[in-house]
Amino acid sequence: MNLLQIKNNVQILHEGVNKAAIASGYNPKQIKIIAVTKKVEIEGINQAVQEGMTELGENRVQEMLAKQPFVDSKVNWHLIGHLQMNKVKSVIGKVKMIHSLDSWRLACEISKYSLEQNLVSDVLVQVNVSGESSKYGLPVSDVIDFLKTSRELKGLSVRGLMTIAPLVENSEETRPFFKELRNIRDISQSKLPDLSLDFLSMGMTNDYQVAIEEGSNIIRIGSAIFGSRAV
Ligand SMILES: *Cc1c(COP(=O)(O)O)cnc(C)c1O
Repeated sequence: MNLLQIKNNVQILHEGVNKAAIASGYNPKQIKIIAVTKKVEIEGINQAVQEGMTELGENRVQEMLAKQPFVDSKVNWHLIGHLQMNKVKSVIGKVKMIHSLDSWRLACEISKYSLEQNLVSDVLVQVNVSGESSKYGLPVSDVIDFLKTSRELKGLSVRGLMTIAPLVENSEETRPFFKELRNIRDISQSKLPDLSLDFLSMGMTNDYQVAIEEGSNIIRIGSAIFGSRAV
């Protein structure tokens, strides 16, 4: 892990975010960058924190919990990967936000364990906008009903939507998926004014500029900060 490279990468990323935001009339300060630290060593993570990254994202509960004691306790952790039912109990209270709520059973479980700890967990509903069978997330057609029913669960608060765009050569091809997520959010918000659907978590290394242009305010960035992951 080249620490100087991380420093440069963070700077270049900020420039990219600023450019995309300003070009579309958004305030760059309102776009949260989540540094995705999956498979990244503690030293690299701490370098990114030193460069000002305050939001960190992990896909797996176990990996996140193992790293947390070695990273500044002031940072906010986000769970961005699929959450298994049997891991819910161990993640509640350990994250700022769960981005991957993708089923009613999971919603009930998150609510139950949150109430046990006297807290309300902030979550985003993951939507499978592209309909790819390899992806988790609710189908677009289920989102509004799901949000409506989620209000019965007192241990969670749905704060917005998340999606993962298809992996494509030309990032421009991701635009319709981001547009659609934003559209569902806007419709849902107008139908359910008591919810605060403030967040759209969309955009990764390859497509974050397009996502920002389409209204994303949370981008999840791994390789553009830490370099490409060994597979
Ligand atoms: C790995 C991952 C990211 C970051 O991917 P990069 O292309 O490296 O930026 C973002 N979101 C999710 C859900 C991921 O699993």
